[in-house]
Amino acid sequence: MIDGLNSVLSADISTHFLHFVHLCEKILGTTSKNMKVNFLSEYLSSMNDESLSVAVLFLSNRIFPLGSKSAVNIGYSTIMRTLSEISTLDQNKIQQIYLKYGDMGALSEYAISKMHTVSLFQQRALTLLSVHDRFRRIADTIGYNSGKSKRNLLKGLFLNSSPLEAKYLTKMINGEMRIGLTEGLVEVAVSKAFNQELRIVREAMLVLGDISQVALLAKKGLLHTALVRPLNPVSYMLADVMITAEEIIDYYQKPLICEYKYDGIRAQMHKSGQQIRFFSRKLTDVTDAFPELASVALNTNLPSSSLSKIDLILDGEVIAFLHGKPLHFQDLQKRLRKKNVTEQITKEVPLVYVVYDIIYLNGEVMIRKPLRQRKEILSKISFREPIINAYQNIVNSEQGIAAMFEESRDMGHEGLVLKDPDSQYYPGRRGRYWIKLKKELDTIDAVIVIAEYGHGKRAGTLSDYTFAVKDEHSNDQLKIIGKAYSGLTDDEINIITKKLRTIMIRDDGYRVIVRPEIVLEIAFDNIQKSDRHNSGFALRFPRIKNIRIDKTVKDIDSLPKIKQIYNKQVYLMNKNNV
Ligand code: AMP
Repeated sequence: MIDGLNSVLSADISTHFLHFVHLCEKILGTTSKNMKVNFLSEYLSSMNDESLSVAVLFLSNRIFPLGSKSAVNIGYSTIMRTLSEISTLDQNKIQQIYLKYGDMGALSEYAISKMHTVSLFQQRALTLLSVHDRFRRIADTIGYNSGKSKRNLLKGLFLNSSPLEAKYLTKMINGEMRIGLTEGLVEVAVSKAFNQELRIVREAMLVLGDISQVALLAKKGLLHTALVRPLNPVSYMLADVMITAEEIIDYYQKPLICEYKYDGIRAQMHKSGQQIRFFSRKLTDVTDAFPELASVALNTNLPSSSLSKIDLILDGEVIAFLHGKPLHFQDLQKRLRKKNVTEQITKEVPLVYVVYDIIYLNGEVMIRKPLRQRKEILSKISFREPIINAYQNIVNSEQGIAAMFEESRDMGHEGLVLKDPDSQYYPGRRGRYWIKLKKELDTIDAVIVIAEYGHGKRAGTLSDYTFAVKDEHSNDQLKIIGKAYSGLTDDEINIITKKLRTIMIRDDGYRVIVRPEIVLEIAFDNIQKSDRHNSGFALRFPRIKNIRIDKTVKDIDSLPKIKQIYNKQVYLMNKNNV
């Protein structure tokens, strides 16, 4: 294959993947941060919009923006198998070379230099966009038999690439660019390339959390539209989920801020002088739905300021609250559906706005401050009922969490939200800084039908399990509902691995198909409809709670139970769509 810029015909060379990988090599070749930034800013300043948004993602060691649900999900074994199919090297040789280099990128570079298959489209140079498009197609290829389609898509990429390009494709797939760049340096380069203040680039980055969008706004001189200012809604920080208090304590190993999980709708309150706005979870203006809150909001005060001077953005929950107890979420929903908010409905379904975070105060953006400091600031603000500060406690033990959980449920709330006191406010991101703990849904008993080899510390063990329930309507056929790899100890995985090898029906190298004998009890966050599995459903955040040695495939749950749980959730989903 021709490995040179000569093959690139188009005038706009900056959009070509080959140009990109040469830049990466240049950046890798210098230890000077200044030089890295110079190379990069010069490169970025010459790009069109589409290629720019892809280039900054790739350079930040990402394929899709932070928070995106898409992932290419290609493992080492798929890459090795694809390389052996198109090169003159068999699987054994590939393994040996990998062991020699210890690096998948270097292995790919070598293998592609030994390529025997010739692509029909060989003459077409890869561009940043065509590579990204191919990655997107790989990520979108999901479902029971997706492995082969993914390999074909990957093969197409490799067949069109030079050895150096193949090296970078592999590095990107594995999330191991390692060219001495951090997202921070990419931000510096964006600021330099488009002549924008670094402080503003960073603030926009904090708000949007997506380097692609930030680079485009910088290029267009529109970064100010992403800034945190009253009356300009900010994306919400979101919570992750954990199933037990034990898991939370184990994970954080430090005191946490613990609040009730209020069963209402998320709302952002903005005050700018005498103007008040409430924005919904979808960032639409819903001020008219809460007239009694809007009028009281004007009285929000700081001991040291005069009223009209306070500008702020608060984050919190609007709940329906009557006679000292929260009303059911459906009552709130009923009120929100009404076009006119009459006096009668405000009496029947009175509202409380529970404030749990502050995003902006009097010219100062708060999101970079740790939560404990934001809470301190909130405690100094005086609110007038029905706007109140969220009740909070510090917890440091399972017992502490359990006690507050009971208290929350007794008071009619949904559960708890536990928050890392050192965390910033990350707009638009779901992370482990906030953890919701709700009453656990039922668990499901399912049987393992496929097991895959794990990676890293789990390499060599069968640690990823695809499991199924029975479908009573089709002769108890097994229907897959998910895949889980967390929840078991190393010892348990070793025991299961041994057992799986004895009940293997087929060995595909990277996975084994097994007789349905091992029953797992699976906990999960919720159930989604999905065409990924042949059951039509997928468990979200599945975790293995127990290996049910006391159960056989006859005892596993059936599809109607899955459907029943799914239907129970519809209420919650409605809620999230408010
Ligand atoms: P999720 O929307 O899936 O991230 O679940 C968390 C939701 O719980 C938030 O969006 C809020 O609407 C709601 N919530 C209720 N109470 C709290 C609280 N104290 N802190 C944060 N979120 C809360």
